[in-house]
Amino acid sequence: MAARILNGNEIAADLRAEVAEGVTSLVASGGPQPGLAAVLVGDDAASAVYVRNKGRACSEAGMHSETFHLPADTGQADLMDLIAGLNADNRFHGILVQLPLPDQIDEATIIESIAPAKDVDGLHPISQGRMLQGQPTFLPCTPAGVQQVLLRSGYDPAGKHVVIVGRSNIVGKPLAALLMQRNPGGNATVTVCHTRTRDLPDITRQADILVAAMGVPGAVTADMVREGAVVIDVGINRVGYRLVGDVDYDAVAAKAEAITPVPGGIGPMTIALLLSNTLDAARRTVSV
Ligand code: NDP
Repeated sequence: MAARILNGNEIAADLRAEVAEGVTSLVASGGPQPGLAAVLVGDDAASAVYVRNKGRACSEAGMHSETFHLPADTGQADLMDLIAGLNADNRFHGILVQLPLPDQIDEATIIESIAPAKDVDGLHPISQGRMLQGQPTFLPCTPAGVQQVLLRSGYDPAGKHVVIVGRSNIVGKPLAALLMQRNPGGNATVTVCHTRTRDLPDITRQADILVAAMGVPGAVTADMVREGAVVIDVGINRVGYRLVGDVDYDAVAAKAEAITPVPGGIGPMTIALLLSNTLDAARRTVSV
């Protein structure tokens, strides 16, 4: 039987509409218009598209957004100066630094220079540490997007075996932390795999929910998937002019119960969660 397609565009549109309502009521109650500062360094075409889409989504949700575009040869100190200014600028409740950054800039240092109260990407070590401990914080957008797709499609991860392939700081690791929490939306049994994992297919076949976050086109093949599994494809890979995921889509869709497409799966969710975090950041400035 063909898999149910989990339409990230539709789920993200619902979430964005909820955020837009939240913005309207925040402003109506005398709160600030939420503002997002997006920082783009260099001329990477994909990054420029992501930043443009995020800016457009902000205005559609009634938020203010501005993009700060710096040249590719910007030094670390200049970028830190810009971020220090944005940290102090109360028009902006959230700061997003589009990754990857050029080689001369140390990403970890830049992420740590963002004020945790404005870390709407949820990548600051303080945000991630709080998440690991199950405390309220800004959740990283892509992992939170995966969680929302599951919950809003009726696949509560509680009690399920979730296998995540990939252990990056922006996807695999935080997703594992999120889904294992003793909190609603968590309570999964999580296995994290990577390039040093032995007999990967043997482990992925044990997944009730399989998440591919590897950055390798078509790496998850049908023999790696149990009949009836839910498959979440986080990968976004450019192959010629096409965008493809990490999952061999047609063959896996013939076996899975449900699957996210690429494009139109987790990508739009990531943007919706960024908006949701920015609204939360603005709310916090009035509720404390
Ligand atoms: P990274 O390159 O940082 O991490 C990839 C991870 O996958 C690593 O942990 C690596 O293992 C593991 N891996 C790679 N190949 C294999 C393999 N053959 N077998 C087992 N494990 C493997 O990537 P990201 O996490 O940043 O991104 C992953 C994908 O998700 C990319 O396609 C990216 O474009 C996409 N992405 C999509 C987003 C969205 O909004 N939908 C947002 C962010 C990313 P090891 O650690 O051992 O090297």
